[in-house]
Amino acid sequence: MSTAVTRPASGATDLDTLKGVGPAMRERLERLGLQAAEDLLFHLPLRYQDRTRVTPIAGLRAGHEAVVEGEVTAADVIQGRRRSLLVRLRDGSGILSLRFFHFSQAQTTQFARGTRLRLFGEARSGSTGLEMYHPEYRLLKDDTGKEVEETLTPVYPTTEGLAQPRLRALIRQAFEHLDQGSLALEELIPESLRSRFRLPALRESLDYLHFPPPDAPLETLAEGHHPAQRRLALEELLAHQLSLYRIRLRIQEDAAPALPASGGLATRFLTQLPFSLTGAQRRVLSEISADITQTIPMLRLVQGDVGSGKTVVAAMAMLQAVSGGYQAALMAPTELLAEQHYKSLKRWFEPLGIEVAWLSGKLKGKARLDAKTRISEGHARVVAGTHALFQEDVHFHRLGLAVIDEQHRFGVHQRLALRQKGEVSGTTPHQLIMTATPIPRTLAMSAYADLDVSVIDELPPGRTPVKTIAVSDERRGEVTERIRNACLEGRQVYWVCTLIEESEALTCQAAEVTRDTLTEALPEFQVGLVHGRMKAQEKAEVMNAFRDGEVDLLVATTVIEVGVDVPNASLMIIENPERLGLAQLHQLRGRVGRGTVESFCVLLYHPPLSDTSRERLAVLRDSSDGFRIAERDLELRGPGEVLGTRQTGLVGMKIADLTRDRDLLDPVRGLTRAMLDQTPESVDPLIRRWLGEAAGQYGQV
Ligand code: ADP
Ligand code: MG
Repeated sequence: MSTAVTRPASGATDLDTLKGVGPAMRERLERLGLQAAEDLLFHLPLRYQDRTRVTPIAGLRAGHEAVVEGEVTAADVIQGRRRSLLVRLRDGSGILSLRFFHFSQAQTTQFARGTRLRLFGEARSGSTGLEMYHPEYRLLKDDTGKEVEETLTPVYPTTEGLAQPRLRALIRQAFEHLDQGSLALEELIPESLRSRFRLPALRESLDYLHFPPPDAPLETLAEGHHPAQRRLALEELLAHQLSLYRIRLRIQEDAAPALPASGGLATRFLTQLPFSLTGAQRRVLSEISADITQTIPMLRLVQGDVGSGKTVVAAMAMLQAVSGGYQAALMAPTELLAEQHYKSLKRWFEPLGIEVAWLSGKLKGKARLDAKTRISEGHARVVAGTHALFQEDVHFHRLGLAVIDEQHRFGVHQRLALRQKGEVSGTTPHQLIMTATPIPRTLAMSAYADLDVSVIDELPPGRTPVKTIAVSDERRGEVTERIRNACLEGRQVYWVCTLIEESEALTCQAAEVTRDTLTEALPEFQVGLVHGRMKAQEKAEVMNAFRDGEVDLLVATTVIEVGVDVPNASLMIIENPERLGLAQLHQLRGRVGRGTVESFCVLLYHPPLSDTSRERLAVLRDSSDGFRIAERDLELRGPGEVLGTRQTGLVGMKIADLTRDRDLLDPVRGLTRAMLDQTPESVDPLIRRWLGEAAGQYGQV
């Protein structure tokens, strides 16, 4: 992957120190994410061409690129369906045709009989046998052939207006500057660590990849398994890990309040719950509880499948903060979810005499002012809300613990912003991050290098897994009947419309049409609609009506993905599920199956399905284990998709591929520690090399 990354300005050599780089060229290079001369060294080939030897015509194979040398025997302009210039070329072994659809008058005379040519192109089978279309060619004037290339020829990712030969020359120039010492390339992984992990040196790796010898294993290179590639992939992974790790260190430089386990209050809380905690909930809780008795700020991620009961775990942690004399805040990504949390927390905490406040963007005027005062004066010990909680004008009296629900909607920046909220009491709050996105463990370790991870790997007893079936949308009629039956039994139903061509507007329109069709087909039932373009107020009204059972069938876009809890809903239809990731589908499906009746999820796909789509839907049908599903999703789609683009630190990897290079993750973790201990001065340059200036700034917030 070669996504453009913002590149360093400081300490780097300007692009225009290279000959031939003016404003226009600079602009093109920048389009490739190349901002300094050093960056050219790290712009790696996509693949290679073998121009190191001449292949006899008889040795050519269709679909393969090769250098050929021969003598022109004929050149004719053919007036076929498309006018073309057909040149016949002969060497000692056979005859090859060259075809030019675009050609000049000069070319027709250039290919006189007897002219010797050296050319490079891809052979294909055509009407005259083996042919090459528009090969690169050169006339051989003397009868001695010019020398062939000494190394394989790299083919680089490039951009309009920048042809391969030009880019190759610029890169070669950068290496010359390196040899002359006007460009520096620092080896940032010390020899001791390199030899422990058997890694080639940086310069050696780059030389190899830009100018591989003729006998280089092309297949290994194409698969990305060559030691030179692995060395760079490892360095890149290391840079990402270090940048996340550094955020952790920065946060943990400050002191957090020590919050002793809450004893009596916890017992009272637990006895009022209508259920007892699962073993997994208790285990995770003891991990959190131990963390927050320390003065080192906790940075812990709790992963738990939909419905695994994360909220109550968070509540127990919040209770520990409150009994230690501090405040606790819970932030959720949507108004709806925040409000749901607010209600749960109120229900649990008010009987214990703990005041719970609510703050969201929706809250205006006096109500907002009141809430802010209750928070800043410390009357409200527990606060639930949206992002609004962490806006500048909100001051906490003594914030001891911040809980962030559904982490995948937030990034590193919000985590850092939290650090400031302890300002008044001079401490940094502990952070607990909860996510239902079941990120495979290997990936979680890298994506969240700055967090400790706890997993709630058990669902509360008595849940029946949602039965999932895939149905072609040609059978819509049957599905409508199914909805009617469920509603007749007093159950409620979700109908989910997925994103159309990345367009929210189109998706919302489609949802409106679906609502109308279903209203017509099911006149005896109440059909509601929520989508992203409705006002928060309207959305909340519809959702509340659904929760209260006034709406039987809720047509929705994926806005309902997160957290909604309506136990009476027992059927979900997901239209065009092939458009969504497995993890997201699993999340959606988790909205049903929350009550005691058997629940169903119908994946209403549009045929024909591709093999991958078919396989993906089968995974969902056969498994209800979020982690297993995520592992499969990772294999089928790759990590970028699984984590979503919001996950900082993982998107935009240039060389590393988390699926292919999974086995490097363990050594990278070892190296991360080793570098921080042994060569801390190399950490900054390494991060800057791979993540650019932007990443350097994370650490300074
Ligand atoms: P999620 O992990 O998806 O956020 P919630 O915290 O919303 O899950 O919990 C889902 C439902 O399960 C809630 O109604 C909650 O009260 C209930 N619940 C949580 N823990 C248990 C338990 N140990 N036994 C039974 N029900 C539980
Ligand atoms: Mg939840």
